[in-house]
Amino acid sequence: MMNITYNVRQAVYVNLTNRCPCACTFCLRSNGPGVHGSGSLWLDREPRLDEVIADLGKWDYRTYREVVFCGYGEPTERLDTMLAVAAHLKKQDPALRIRVNTNGLSDLINGRRTAPLFANAVDCVSISLNTDDPAEYLAVCRPRFGEAAYPAMLAFAREAAAVLPEVVMTVVGEPVTSLAKQARCKAVAESLGARLRVRPYEG
Ligand code: SF4
Repeated sequence: MMNITYNVRQAVYVNLTNRCPCACTFCLRSNGPGVHGSGSLWLDREPRLDEVIADLGKWDYRTYREVVFCGYGEPTERLDTMLAVAAHLKKQDPALRIRVNTNGLSDLINGRRTAPLFANAVDCVSISLNTDDPAEYLAVCRPRFGEAAYPAMLAFAREAAAVLPEVVMTVVGEPVTSLAKQARCKAVAESLGARLRVRPYEG
């Protein structure tokens, strides 16, 4: 059975694809059994829109705080499906909070400016900043877009922050990201209209 949706704490997570244009050295896809012990999230095939919506129907949203589009792969690889699912959920319950966890490379993946499409569709976008150093980003995230990726991620964050109530950029805490680097990343995020969140290092 495919893990299209699953529960982590007070959120329902949606898994649309295995695809991603990056090959991060720390990626769970190559390093672990699944997200937060949810078992294998590897999809045998990408679920259709109707299958995703049907699977979401099994959750009681009075119990959950938000719906999160997240791994295994990069959700904006299926941007149209993701936005259609978000629209469905907002139609059912306009108060339901919707977040997208993304590498921020949607514009390069989809070949167009995509941040405006997120307006009124989702409440929060969480973008993996990882570092303030473009060379380090290239070495760690290994995006197939090469050097174009880091500036495109920053541009997406800036455009998303202009249209969404909340844009978060994330780094992993010490020892992966030193306090000095966290401060520099905070400055980068804030210069784009986003805020920095330091994710705990899980070893
Ligand atoms: S962007 Fe996310 S899904 Fe893609 S390789 Fe990196 S950690 Fe894995």
